[in-house]
Amino acid sequence: MASVTDIESVLKEKRVFPCDPAFAARAHVKSADEYEALYRRSTEDPGAFWAEVGRELSWFEEPIRTLEWNCPDAKWFVGGKLNVSSNCLDRHLTTVRRNQAAIIWEGEPGDTRVLTYQMLHSEVCRFAAALKRIGVHKGDRVAIYLPMIPEAAIAMLACARLGATHSVVFGGFSAEALRDRINDAQARFVITADGGWRRGAVVALKDAVDEAVEETPSVERVVVVKRTGTPVKMNRRRDLWWDELVAGVPAACEAEPVDSEHPLFILYTSGTTGKPKGVVHSTAGYLAHVQVTTKLVFDLKDEDIYWCTADIGWVTGHSYVVYGPLANGATTLMYEGAPNQPQPDRFWEIIERYKVNVLYTAPTAIRTFTRWGDEWPQKHDLSSLRLLGTVGEPINPEAWTWYRRVIGGNRCPIVDTWWQTETGGILISPLPGAVPAKPGSCTKPFPGIVPEVVNRDGKPAATNDGGYLVIKQPWPGMLRTVWGDHARFVKEYWSQVPGMYFTGDGARRDEDGYFWVMGRIDDVVNVSGHRLGTMEIESALVSHACVTEAAVVGRPDEIKGEALAAFVTLAAGTRADDALRKELREHVGKEIGAFAKPDDIRFTEALPKTRSGKIMRRLLRDLAAGKESVGDTTTLEDFSVLAKLREEDE
Ligand code: ATP
Ligand code: MG
Repeated sequence: MASVTDIESVLKEKRVFPCDPAFAARAHVKSADEYEALYRRSTEDPGAFWAEVGRELSWFEEPIRTLEWNCPDAKWFVGGKLNVSSNCLDRHLTTVRRNQAAIIWEGEPGDTRVLTYQMLHSEVCRFAAALKRIGVHKGDRVAIYLPMIPEAAIAMLACARLGATHSVVFGGFSAEALRDRINDAQARFVITADGGWRRGAVVALKDAVDEAVEETPSVERVVVVKRTGTPVKMNRRRDLWWDELVAGVPAACEAEPVDSEHPLFILYTSGTTGKPKGVVHSTAGYLAHVQVTTKLVFDLKDEDIYWCTADIGWVTGHSYVVYGPLANGATTLMYEGAPNQPQPDRFWEIIERYKVNVLYTAPTAIRTFTRWGDEWPQKHDLSSLRLLGTVGEPINPEAWTWYRRVIGGNRCPIVDTWWQTETGGILISPLPGAVPAKPGSCTKPFPGIVPEVVNRDGKPAATNDGGYLVIKQPWPGMLRTVWGDHARFVKEYWSQVPGMYFTGDGARRDEDGYFWVMGRIDDVVNVSGHRLGTMEIESALVSHACVTEAAVVGRPDEIKGEALAAFVTLAAGTRADDALRKELREHVGKEIGAFAKPDDIRFTEALPKTRSGKIMRRLLRDLAAGKESVGDTTTLEDFSVLAKLREEDE
């Protein structure tokens, strides 16, 4: 008998893509056997495994113990003292990396900058010294509200250098969202810009800051980068131009040794499910986790140009644009603007021009590219690419195979990386030379990580049965608390299944030990006694040639309990009519079974998404049920999408 928490799995995806032998031969982890041996060793003696990882960091004082675990409170690398900015910069200055590019940056208008490790080090030291002069101390919170410009990374690293805790707020957020995040963290300083470029227009960041700080009594100083040259109001007592602040300041600033557990940053989750939480990350554990995952998952090589397209406002931008790559001494590419500026081939043009080797992006972007059409990537030589990655949502097998074929030329492995703001770094992902891929599966756990699929009582689910995805052992990059609300940390993450970290995602593990994330537990739909994850029905819809994106939610139904409502975005030029609705229902019936046929199908130009591009099913659920949305909508990307859907409703 299935318990009420079980989720039924209906996705029939059987394809397996073995590792390419030539790729594997050069990879850090070269075979399934090697991975399995490493994994076994890492879980039999996690202390030894993570201690080894920790030894790859550069320490002022070595830790005396790897882990102190009082569930749910972890202390990693106890007694150690280090500094993240010296790990990302100073230690590379005595090697050949000194003169290599740390950051290759391109602005949306086409302006570029390259910063070698030496240059980045100087910029960070200068800015850190300047921040010190205006009173930034160890332990202060600094809000960073910037576009994707090198100053964003410089500001983060300068805070880390001083031991100040940064709170990066995505530059697309409104004044209201910024204000709430500043107040929650009680930030004393804000670092922003006069503006940033997005789709050919200026995003007025400074105006938003001006509005926000009217209601943030903790803020003393605002530092402003000149990016767009847009006229802005400067408050003489409060605001300072970045370039004036650093003028004449020597590029010298000792890195402050901080305790391993010192809070490196606070980051608010993307808010797909509700009120954003201030996730707190540590120094040593976080850095060790992102350093080793960047190296092994992206199989980094010294000569690589690595591009993660995430904004630094998200955890992916923290871990895999800034800290992970720089800790490894890699070259990280940053791009400021939109993927369709001036044309839908901007990404492919960048890849061709810089000869990018590793591309890490999100399913939402990939689905958008499929809608724009193959002709855009096909205009460009993408042969420099050797590895592709995705993160952020489950990727539908159809989008996965498109990514592999059209972008990866059937040549590049894909790493589908599952993790969360809370986990700090990647927890489940193939190692590209060692673990064969299955489209739609994030495959196997990273060494040292022990995930499981369980029922509500914490018992392991049977093979291929859906359930709750939990993590059974602590890992170094895990969040330490929710800022200012430790009770919420305990309740949301450690109380649902006692003694285990609760991810909030539904998943199943197949006969090969592969994990398949089925969507969020909160989004599970219940039709005629079947509990289904959204990802699988959506994937069935997306596997139809006319559909590029789909979101499925449940709505109350007197007879079935819950009926299925599908919101569907079509490929360009498709006729949206009843005949297609019927065809899509039949298609899902064929792919999954008659019980999963959507009751309603609504065609829509766009789906409501968070600013990080994730579908907000919560809002669609309210819409389908004919209710007003009451939850937090400040993280919604485009209000007009929801307004349009509502209008059609009337
Ligand atoms: P909030 O927690 O505020 O609702 P969020 O969960 O969207 O927002 P993130 O931490 O950015 O915030 O996202 C983590 C979530 O994204 C995971 O819990 C999972 O649902 C989804 N996710 C991320 N990567 C993958 C992946 N590779 N496969 C499937 N799902 C993924
Ligand atoms: Mg979440």
